[in-house]
Amino acid sequence: MPDNNNDLTLSAPLSGPVLTLGNVPDDVFASGAMGDGIAIDPLNDCLHAPCAGVVIHVARTGHALTLRADNGAEVLLHVGIDTVALQGEGFALLVKEGSRVSNGQALVRFDLDRIARQCKSLVSVIILTNGEQFELRPVALNTVKVGEALLRIVARQPHAQQPSVNDSSQAHASARIRIAHRGGLHARPAALIRKTAQGFSSQSQLHFAGKSASCDSLVGLMGLGIGEQDEVQVTCRGKDCDAALQALIAALSISTGEEAHTPVTVAARPVNSEAGVLQGVCAAPGLVCGPLLRLNTLQLPQDPGNHVRDEQLQQLDSALEQVRSEIRNTLEHARQRRAAEEEDIFAAHLVLLEDPTLLEAATAAIEQGSAATHAWRDAIQAQCAVLLGLGKPLFAERANDLRDLQQRVLRVLLGETWQFELPAGAIVAAHELTPSDLLQLSAQNVAGLCMAEGGATSHVAILARGKGLPCVVALGGEVLEVPQGQRVVLDAANGRLELTPDDARHAQVHQIRDAQKQRRQQQQAQAQAAASTRDGVGIEVAANVASSSEAQIAFENGADGVGLLRTEFLFVDRRTAPDEQEQRQAYQAVLDAMGDKSVIIRTIDVGGDKQLDYLPLPVEANPVLGLRGIRMAQVRPELLDQQLRALLQVSPLQRCRILLPMVSEVDELLHIRRRLDELCAELELTQRPELGVMIEVPAAALMAELLAEHADFLSIGTNDLSQYTLAMDRDHAGLAARVDALHPALLRLIAQTCAGAAKHGRWVGVCGALASDPLATPVLVGLGVRELSVSPPQIAEIKDRIRHLDATQCRQLSQGLLNLGSAGAVRQACQHHWPLS
Ligand code: PEP
Ligand code: MG
Repeated sequence: MPDNNNDLTLSAPLSGPVLTLGNVPDDVFASGAMGDGIAIDPLNDCLHAPCAGVVIHVARTGHALTLRADNGAEVLLHVGIDTVALQGEGFALLVKEGSRVSNGQALVRFDLDRIARQCKSLVSVIILTNGEQFELRPVALNTVKVGEALLRIVARQPHAQQPSVNDSSQAHASARIRIAHRGGLHARPAALIRKTAQGFSSQSQLHFAGKSASCDSLVGLMGLGIGEQDEVQVTCRGKDCDAALQALIAALSISTGEEAHTPVTVAARPVNSEAGVLQGVCAAPGLVCGPLLRLNTLQLPQDPGNHVRDEQLQQLDSALEQVRSEIRNTLEHARQRRAAEEEDIFAAHLVLLEDPTLLEAATAAIEQGSAATHAWRDAIQAQCAVLLGLGKPLFAERANDLRDLQQRVLRVLLGETWQFELPAGAIVAAHELTPSDLLQLSAQNVAGLCMAEGGATSHVAILARGKGLPCVVALGGEVLEVPQGQRVVLDAANGRLELTPDDARHAQVHQIRDAQKQRRQQQQAQAQAAASTRDGVGIEVAANVASSSEAQIAFENGADGVGLLRTEFLFVDRRTAPDEQEQRQAYQAVLDAMGDKSVIIRTIDVGGDKQLDYLPLPVEANPVLGLRGIRMAQVRPELLDQQLRALLQVSPLQRCRILLPMVSEVDELLHIRRRLDELCAELELTQRPELGVMIEVPAAALMAELLAEHADFLSIGTNDLSQYTLAMDRDHAGLAARVDALHPALLRLIAQTCAGAAKHGRWVGVCGALASDPLATPVLVGLGVRELSVSPPQIAEIKDRIRHLDATQCRQLSQGLLNLGSAGAVRQACQHHWPLS
């Protein structure tokens, strides 16, 4: 009720105890970042209007709305904490955006029990979002009933300007989310967040540990030092705040990047204990010898200061533009070569070059008289100091990307050419190389890389692995003291730099390398032929792919088929769900890329560590044990129906096999079989495609015989089967070495699966990472596996391995492995029985 021209008393929109904002169990509300306000722990299930006014914003999910009172005050009413996660379930909106409401009118009815059970808290907040014009005076501080006086809103200025009726820029949405990105919010995930936020007009921020950063600033986001599994608050303000929030939640909860698949190895510097050998950490394996040549970094002279401001700004601008255009070229080449990791890394560099925090810092320094060179260097170094100060290795490694940009821009500003004068075959030593250094060096055909510093998860390491360039990091400062041109041996797989190898060692390295090269060529030459063991057991070597372009590569590499198409990755960049037609086209493209070979297409496997932007799933306490894989059909049956329909329309249908993920009981399979039959009838198909079941939870392996009765084939997912059998997170850095699918417990489950399938004449494949491990090939063949679906570059090697095996001997020896005590013992025995040279 308006008290005079501008003051207003708000009545309680809910009944219950009143709390000050500081007691709200949410950092952002509690800190007042969203505005001043008050909270109520509700005892009733209906939110009422605290005053007369217009509803200027309603959250799509119904959990929050904003009213503009007649005096211009804008009041956000937010029911519960983190209730956005309910996706509207349990909320019934009784008004629409734009409606005029009277004081006390019912606005939203909600399911009190559901919020209490599924959300962080029922505590609901009432926030004044245009506090610059008004201030708040609490009236009630104990318990209130709906309609009782709660707050007074007093105008700060007697004639506060009335905002335009259409201005809904104060609309906002907020949620808490746990970060799924492996290693936290470092450069590439931060770039994803920035890109996501840029798709919306709302201003979005992340809040963590008392600090906030705009989603526009990559360095700002990285500077928050958000680690994996840290919980952050996301706030979005603007007209499309709900959509922005949903997209950001999805982007933050995806686990992406190389770090998601590679154990994070912190390059703690090993001790040098062998004379004449420096010990480091392997970043990319390989054995090479050659002259060691040192690269020096750029040094700036003292800045005399007092430069002409406009000139320096202009110089910095054009240097930045030149480097951007060079990076765009690099990106284009990476795209043409389908070098996805390279593309990701340099795309992040491009974003860093446009980062407002960096540019503002450099501009401010120039305004104060600095040279463009020194301003740029200082801006970068300040951000490097922030990243290094976070005490998290993965963030510290991202400082290397900033230093890369520092060097590149400085070189342009100083007019220095950027070409290393190095002979082909040189082994390069540097304090720390940057991603762009690496591209230059690899183009000059250097043989290997050694760094005093650096980590095995740095972008340089990722690029070196992608290019097959042996690389050792964390060798210590001594590597920079080795005389220029000294002949050395780099045994990167073992992290060793041998400083004084004799002639015999040189000859040995050459011999090993020649033999490896020859073997690879021979394997490649045989890759297109089918593989059988020496005693004639045929093993199909198929490929795991995530797109039609990967299928094309697999086909060229000699794949006998696609053993696993992970359909959840086909549309991973999308904000909206693909329709049936788009899905059909994508599946057809994979079939077309594979000639006349068969393609196993797995139905969508989201949940757990795999999230899709367009498919936000309910927050679960234990997502890996939650509604993932085929269980999603329980909550979203229409999605599975749509996918099955799309699959049934590919041609020729006989080449398409359907695979169901995360099956744990026979009824799940029977249900989908029935549904598939119904859909076939609807589409007037006389034959249904083969239907297989993934064996990736122990329950499925133990029930393999029963599943095989109704399935056409079984495919073992050793990644998840290890996780669930060993009770070890498959992406846990600290357990990476122990989540080993050669554990005897897994071998027993694999043996049981093969025996169960054999009773019904079904074949068994393996599509988890174990299939790509040549040490495991004889064991899998011995236990009865007849198809191995491997990563495309491994096809030739695995086929070659099969051709050297005797299946009968594999069967006999693998039985003995089931009685060993650990994965380590199995590996040792495998190496003994079937040595890998
Ligand atoms: C597996 O679990 O082994 C598997 C192949 O499935 P994904 O890795 O996609 O979970
Ligand atoms: Mg799996």
